Amino acid sequence: MTPNTDLNIALFERAQALIPGGVNSPVRAFRAVGGTPRFIRRAQGAWLWDANGQRFIDYIGSWGPMILGHAHPAVLEAVHQAARDGLSFGAPTERELELAEEILGLLPSMEMIRLVSSGTEAAMSAIRLARGATGRSKFIKFEGCYHGHADALLVRAGSGLATLGTATSAGVPPEVLQHTLVLEYNAIEQLEQAFALHGSELACLVIEPIAGNMNLVRASVPFMRRCRELCTQHGALLVFDEVMTGFRVALGGAQSLYAREIPGFKPDLTVLGKVIGGGMPLAAFGGPRAIMENLAPSGAVYQAGTLSGNPVATACGLATLRQIKEPGFFAALAARTRALVEGLEGAAAAEGVALCADSEGGMFGFFLLPELPRNYAQVLRSDGARFNRLFHGLLARGVCIAPALYEAGFVSAAHSADDIAQTVAAAHEVFRELSRQ
Ligand code: PMP
Repeated sequence: MTPNTDLNIALFERAQALIPGGVNSPVRAFRAVGGTPRFIRRAQGAWLWDANGQRFIDYIGSWGPMILGHAHPAVLEAVHQAARDGLSFGAPTERELELAEEILGLLPSMEMIRLVSSGTEAAMSAIRLARGATGRSKFIKFEGCYHGHADALLVRAGSGLATLGTATSAGVPPEVLQHTLVLEYNAIEQLEQAFALHGSELACLVIEPIAGNMNLVRASVPFMRRCRELCTQHGALLVFDEVMTGFRVALGGAQSLYAREIPGFKPDLTVLGKVIGGGMPLAAFGGPRAIMENLAPSGAVYQAGTLSGNPVATACGLATLRQIKEPGFFAALAARTRALVEGLEGAAAAEGVALCADSEGGMFGFFLLPELPRNYAQVLRSDGARFNRLFHGLLARGVCIAPALYEAGFVSAAHSADDIAQTVAAAHEVFRELSRQ
């Protein structure tokens, strides 16, 4: 027991008696990297403080939402004010409309939106809507993309297109997976084969356009163009899961980046979460009016939620979106994120450690590999043991990155040039250690 982790250890022991694995979401438990998770007491700006009062520069940002940094004063003020007016009504509010108008104004592919409370719920509902609107059952997802933990999405690829995928969780019956086709990310030929075989049965194709759940892997422009063409040709809906990338990689989300490369490009449905709630439970999905009006009570596709459009969460989301709309916000965030990534690459190169990195807006990824992977199988070539040493080396130096090599990282507007410089200096020390081992 090191003297500065004793309270975290005591809390983790207590937690394990109360909550399975001691955590309310698995990756928090440090199972991949080993050691004791830090119990967070408070956060401000770019920093977290754990139970021992140790400070960390935070690159997890609650797994994406905290784009302004923690406890931003304008956001806190909006939340306090909303809370004073009541925590939940289960009835419509004007603020839901303001948030809807704000989001629809920023994402031109969406004409209508439905608010929910988690990304899981949003992705699950978008797929139900796609199935209801098309009258079809099958859908495509990609290996390494995560869309929440609805049963039909917890699946890994089978050995080929002809074999069904297998569940990645116990408790998911094989019958639930019979309509899910799992394909390799960025593999155009496989995509074409899948549409040739199943095109008329496909309700939708769901994709993380810049995948953040296999670290950071971009869908190539030709691949995305083919996704769009094949969906249109076969009457399947293209569903963009922008829970992570929405309002994070650019103000218009990843779809605005593909629209720059592919004239007229837009997805049919978009799934949002994380940043739109600014740290409160809020997510959404939306698209064209003709599709969205299939939802109850206008249409026959059922979807509901006790806390959907919660007044405090919508206040938090609105205050956050209003900040990130300020001119120059994304340019500054992207520059800071790039400085981090370039600093890490430079430090690794100086110590002869193979590392490559990428970033878009305030999202970044790095791999202890000589070149950027294009799919999940390539991500799996990363040296996990080496990553774990890097993770703990950084943590010991007060820098907190995600405790698993499959997660993208996040920089917030509160990260200063000094925070970035400290992070790069800490990483340099760890790379030096790695190069000697
Ligand atoms: N989709 C994506 C792309 C995600 O990254 C996540 C969560 N990390 C989800 C869906 C699920 O969101 P939630 O955890 O809010 O259910």
